Amino acid sequence: MTTPKSMKYESERDHDFSEWITGVVGSERIRNCIQCGICSSTCPVSHYMDYTPRRLINMARQGFKDEVLRSKTIWLCTSCYSCTTECPKLIKVTDVMYALKRKAIQERVYPRRFAIPILGKEFYKMVRAKGRITESRLMMIFMLKTNLLRIFTMSKMGLRLIRTGRMDYKPESVKRIKELQAVMDASSDRKGVSTS
Ligand code: SF4
Ligand code: SF4
Repeated sequence: MTTPKSMKYESERDHDFSEWITGVVGSERIRNCIQCGICSSTCPVSHYMDYTPRRLINMARQGFKDEVLRSKTIWLCTSCYSCTTECPKLIKVTDVMYALKRKAIQERVYPRRFAIPILGKEFYKMVRAKGRITESRLMMIFMLKTNLLRIFTMSKMGLRLIRTGRMDYKPESVKRIKELQAVMDASSDRKGVSTS
């Protein structure tokens, strides 16, 4: 029987990743982190994260690329900005989370079948295609891609919401969709995020 190793050797760390994150706009001060833990203690969802914000910041700057990009932490971040407001070293922790999310999508390593990145991606695709989302369609696609059984348990409530006019079912779209797509594509190129 082999015992898995819980620490990485120096040679296994990804120094390119560590360099990359400190070069991303908003993440420049990451090396100044003093590991005080204020970001974690102020974070309302740190209890649900696999790594607390303090730990994730440290892992990112140390080059633990796989662990960081595959973590659920970056997707559980609600962008409340508490950590960024409270950080004594003025580190923009929320922006770091965004940068890591973009990188995880770009490298297609976000946690498979984890609800939040799937919802984010489908939301983006629908907005790019139509300029608006249709809640009922979005929910249907979301459930098909995450948990098929949920369609049966949620269908009653969904129908009630549609019947009472609280959820749309007709696809809506905006005029001049091409212009919106051009803006979104330009923004995605700049951030290095795939729109496919
Ligand atoms: S609050 Fe700032 S300095 Fe303290 S651990 Fe978090 S990121 Fe580092
Ligand atoms: S922005 Fe994200 S990481 Fe920071 S406190 Fe809010 S939820 Fe936590």
